[in-house]
Amino acid sequence: MKNWNWNLFSQKRKNLSLWWQSKHLRLEISSKCQLKCPLCFTGTGYHRKYSAIGWGNLDIEQFRDFLEKNPQIQSLELSNYGELFLHPQIEKILRMAYEKNIQLTILNGTNLNYLPDRVAEALVKYQVVKIKVSIDGASQQSYQQYRVGGNLEKVLNHIRKINFYKEKYQSRYPKLKWQFIVFGHNEHEIEKAQALAQELQMSFKLKFNYSPKKFPVRNRQILAQKMGYADITEFEEKNQIFYSPACFQLWTAPQINWDGKLLGCCVNYFGDFGNVFQEGLENLLQSERYIYAKKMLLGEVPARSDIPCVQCKRYEKVLQMPFCEQLEAHLKARQF
Ligand code: SF4
Repeated sequence: MKNWNWNLFSQKRKNLSLWWQSKHLRLEISSKCQLKCPLCFTGTGYHRKYSAIGWGNLDIEQFRDFLEKNPQIQSLELSNYGELFLHPQIEKILRMAYEKNIQLTILNGTNLNYLPDRVAEALVKYQVVKIKVSIDGASQQSYQQYRVGGNLEKVLNHIRKINFYKEKYQSRYPKLKWQFIVFGHNEHEIEKAQALAQELQMSFKLKFNYSPKKFPVRNRQILAQKMGYADITEFEEKNQIFYSPACFQLWTAPQINWDGKLLGCCVNYFGDFGNVFQEGLENLLQSERYIYAKKMLLGEVPARSDIPCVQCKRYEKVLQMPFCEQLEAHLKARQF
């Protein structure tokens, strides 16, 4: 009986490593950013010089070709490490996707310090579904401590501009979310920010700082009260799940870089699995290295040095968590 159960379990795992889909993707359209956020590898210049992300914009003709070759695509997340509104042809990108009935989101986030009027209108006209705006403060003084080079008033005016077009077109979309990373210098402004978000018809979400030793929260009680946990470690230890389960994306929404590199997940900046513009998306999703990476995460095979995950801090944690079960539950919940 024991053996039989084990075989069934192994079979399930085997299927999970081979399972793939290409309808829901993440494709970053610009890795450039104008801010200098001190804990961000884009803001500090690391990606530009040293990582697989680099510094650039999605080529519009490559995008057109990619959509032609992949008519199965149903949704695209457009943001990752950069500020997507710096792409000079973003309206065209939104329109091209809209004309193919592709649902668009900007949920990794935008700092929204730059938004030309015509782009604000395009967000509504082409029905971007959701946008998450990163605003860590309710005053310029606290906001600029992390969002170095940013201007809070500009950001709020850009939100008002989107709301203006939503009203003009009588549209529910895009739905707007205010994301507030809690630091020591802004923890006293949470309520003020929340009230402002409500006034701007935005949902509001607090987020933990991934590097809690930098800009540490002074009153940890505030986090425990408002978020249920004092930090990410406490959250993950108590729940035995990731605070942000990016590894699932290898299955649920593979990440592609602006230049076509298949990264797999939004965290990976260590290396790629080939170039989807040159080698074809579905070929790469079924390639030996991509499947091997999934097997590594499922704990079926040992780490291998040519797989980007070996350089990622999360990989070790994955092996200590019931990752396979969580992935299955996630796929089920998303009705894959
Ligand atoms: S281990 Fe790191 S690089 Fe690999 S899938 Fe998970 S988050 Fe991405």
